[in-house]
Amino acid sequence: MRGVVFNIQRFTLHDGPGIRTTVFLKGCPLRCVWCHNPEAMSPEPETSSTGQPFGALMTADEVLAVIAKDRRYYDNSGGGVTFSGGEPLFQFKFTLELAERAKAAGLHVAIDTAGFAPQRHYEQILPYVDLFLYDIKADSGELHRALTGVSNDLILRNLDALMTYGARVRLRCPLVPGVNDHADHLRFIAGLAARYPALDGIDLMPFHNLAAGKWHAVNKTWTLGEVASATTADQARWLDFLRAAGCTNATIG
Ligand code: SF4
Repeated sequence: MRGVVFNIQRFTLHDGPGIRTTVFLKGCPLRCVWCHNPEAMSPEPETSSTGQPFGALMTADEVLAVIAKDRRYYDNSGGGVTFSGGEPLFQFKFTLELAERAKAAGLHVAIDTAGFAPQRHYEQILPYVDLFLYDIKADSGELHRALTGVSNDLILRNLDALMTYGARVRLRCPLVPGVNDHADHLRFIAGLAARYPALDGIDLMPFHNLAAGKWHAVNKTWTLGEVASATTADQARWLDFLRAAGCTNATIG
C-alpha cells in the first residue's frame, strides 16, 4: 500500500516518550488558524510558490525501512514511532497498516491526532497504538468551529470512547494568547483532567508565530495577523491557573 508522506523526522524528542521517528502524513479535515504545517492540509503532493515539493507517495515498506534504521535508539531510550500530520487517520488504511506492522515489529507506536475521524477508525487502530497524543483546541463548539472549521462534538465523543476502552491518552492543547487561552478554556481542560483521571498527562503547546511564511508559500491566507508568540509569562499563567483548578498533571509541551 502507498500513502502520501511529507516528512519523516528522525531523533524527535517531543512526540511521545524516548527517542522517536515521527512520520508526517498529508491530509487533514481541520483548518486550524494557527496550523504550523499548512503544507499538510491537502492530501495530495503539492509544490510551494518557491518550488519546494511537499509530499511524496511512499510504500509502507519504504516508510518502515526508514523507521527501522533507529531501532537501537528506540530500544535504549524507551522510544518508538509517532504517526503525525496533518491528521494521520485521514489516510486511514495506510496508517493502519503502518501501525500494525510497527507494533508487530515490537515498536512503541504513538498517534498524534486531532480526534476528528470516525469512531470506528479509532476502534480499529487501537490494538496497535500505545499512546494517543490527542488535541483539545477550544472549549465551545462554536469557538472550535471558528478556529478549526469543525465543531468539537465528534472530538469529545472520540475522546470519551478512547478513555472508555482504556486507551493511553495524553492531551495536547495548543494555546494562542488572546485567541483560546481564556479562563473558560483552561477550566474546560481542567474539567477533562478531572473527568478522566487515567489521562497520561496534559501538554500545553504554546503558540509561536513562525508559520505565517509557510501559509503564504502554499497559497493560503494567514488570518492571525500580528498575534504574538506565547511568552514565558503566558505559560506560567496557564500552569498556575490549571494547578489552582486542581489539574496537577499539566506541563508545557
Ligand atoms: S489538526 Fe493539525 S495539521 Fe490539521 S489543520 Fe489543525 S494544526 Fe494543522
